Amino acid sequence: MLTLTHSQAAFKDAQSLMPGGVNSPVRSYGRVRCTPPFIASAKGSSITDIDGNTYIDYVGSWGPMIAGHAHPRVVKALQEAAARGTSYGAPTLLESEIARLIKSIYPSIEKLRMVNSGTEATMSALRVARGFTGRDKIIKFQGCYHGHADSLLVSAGSGAATFGQPDSPGVPAATAADTITLPYNDSKSFNRIMDGFGNDIAAVIVEPVAGNMGLVLPEESFLQALRSQTQAHGAILIFDEVMCGFRTALHGAQAYYGITPDMTCLGKIIGGGLPAAAYGGKAYLMDCVSPAGPIYQAGTLSGNPLAMTAGIETLRIITEDPSYTVRVTAHTTTLTEGLRQKAAEAGVAVCVHQSGSMFSLFFTDKDVKNFADSSAADQDAFAVYFQSMLEQGIYLPPSQFETCFVSGAHTDDDIRRTIEAAGTAFAAVASYRQSR
Ligand SMILES: *Cc1c(COP(=O)(O)O)cnc(C)c1O
Repeated sequence: MLTLTHSQAAFKDAQSLMPGGVNSPVRSYGRVRCTPPFIASAKGSSITDIDGNTYIDYVGSWGPMIAGHAHPRVVKALQEAAARGTSYGAPTLLESEIARLIKSIYPSIEKLRMVNSGTEATMSALRVARGFTGRDKIIKFQGCYHGHADSLLVSAGSGAATFGQPDSPGVPAATAADTITLPYNDSKSFNRIMDGFGNDIAAVIVEPVAGNMGLVLPEESFLQALRSQTQAHGAILIFDEVMCGFRTALHGAQAYYGITPDMTCLGKIIGGGLPAAAYGGKAYLMDCVSPAGPIYQAGTLSGNPLAMTAGIETLRIITEDPSYTVRVTAHTTTLTEGLRQKAAEAGVAVCVHQSGSMFSLFFTDKDVKNFADSSAADQDAFAVYFQSMLEQGIYLPPSQFETCFVSGAHTDDDIRRTIEAAGTAFAAVASYRQSR
């Protein structure tokens, strides 16, 4: 039995200090009805809470930790960088270095700007698209999460889905009115809207592999429709690869599916566990950004030397060895195949999706293609599965609307232990269903 005495006290204390006791909603474990372990430290594939429980970690700080926690090279580079000062508010060589690295991996990005979060990246990319086209309306897809900027917090996934708040109070109706939301993977309704209003659309923003309604894979014809319609109507196609970048494949979903967007948003991995993100794309678009052009965007800590250092070192680790991401993907495949097999043995219908080093599991007998499918899956079964896994030392995201992440630090033994634990968890789901 898992002891969470210290975490329980810490959570109670934190609730008097922060809304829900957390600085980001999903961390509160609301949907899975247990206390979130408070974390003391992490190393490689494992994470340890303040009660001394150690877990195999598949949250990976929600994506960034592809090289594992506290990678010795990242830690050393950060220690050396900190000793040189933590922020200057002035240009550094590190910023050009990370820009060059990112460009070399994402050739569709001709110029880019570093920001501090994925939210800032998508918000700024939209501003560029609107400023460049002189149009206000944008299209996003239900269940896709692009951060919490006003115009994007409409039919959003992630925490907004977990808590049933697709539209947040405080988002002006006029702002939401400029956001058209359509079902993911539905080329037909997309084509119909573009045929009718395409010349009023500034941008189409999409997670080319959707990771915030659980992991949902794109149909290739859907991504192709996005590209051809935006091209035909002079709208900007923005790929939000904040999550799937470097994971679906090293060169992102855009390389994997062979579709080149006008702009790309990156985050998570490029900060190596520190706050950093970026938006970039065609030079003629990025040259509209201040001070080169009239579209304003700025940041006191943008390009921060510590964040750039952690990002550069992480990108080096995953690119120097050309098989790094391929290996992590292979580990993930072993895991997803094991999960499917254990679920079948327990007689529990699941839909397991994988894209590179990401995976997720829905309790449903249907293939999950969009937010409606994802929402229809059995979330109570998920809570039972989640609790059983946590008890067995497997740390998963506490919601079926979140994606699991594998790192280069996960070992064969980690994967084997996780599959074993899943067998027990699926049996718990089966007996829960019998008792229901
Ligand atoms: C995490 C995420 C964001 C938001 O990034 P933050 O750094 O949390 O603001 C945006 N888009 C996608 C696809 C994400 O997964």
